[in-house]
Amino acid sequence: MSVIVHQGDLPAGAFVGVSSVAVDSETLGLRLGRDPLCLVQLKGPEGDTHLVQLDRATYDAPNLKRLLTDPKVLKLFHFGRFDIAMFQIHLGVITAPVYCTKIASKLARTYTDRHGLRDVTRELLGVDISKAQQSSDWGAAELSPEQIAYAASDVAHLHALRDRLDLMLAREGRLALAQACFDFLPQRAALDVAGWDEIDIFAHT
Ligand code: MN
Repeated sequence: MSVIVHQGDLPAGAFVGVSSVAVDSETLGLRLGRDPLCLVQLKGPEGDTHLVQLDRATYDAPNLKRLLTDPKVLKLFHFGRFDIAMFQIHLGVITAPVYCTKIASKLARTYTDRHGLRDVTRELLGVDISKAQQSSDWGAAELSPEQIAYAASDVAHLHALRDRLDLMLAREGRLALAQACFDFLPQRAALDVAGWDEIDIFAHT
């Protein structure tokens, strides 16, 4: 399987007939409303990994937006709350339906507080992924081979992780609770965008 870098948008034929796509994105920073969205990485259950370098002047990416909002395609994330908020701000879409391996991990792996992608991937799949390029310049016109490999690795294992986490959630009787959290996640991200990022509206105070 290869990694294909696209400029501006996904090709029209990508992911036809696919029911789930692993998604991640890279930005110039972690602050909503300040930092631009630069790159979106996508991978189906099998086949190539597609990296889309967005045109930050227009964010004109109709094929990508159609996929993110397609009700028949489940989008798998790790900490989707951030990516979904970024997609709402820059692409103007509410991403749905979604699955988040970080939420699943927190609900299933209550014996640990290590829920980073690297930790979860190592424990459940026995695979070590590098985080070395995490803080690199994703706004560069030309991505380095190291950046491309890192960006692709962030979506490489999400399908396998979902399979493992779903087994653990089922074992613990928490599949329905997890599903309810995934259903709410796009709205949780919309609350971040609207200014309730620091405030827990469910808290007493
Ligand atoms: Mn990433």
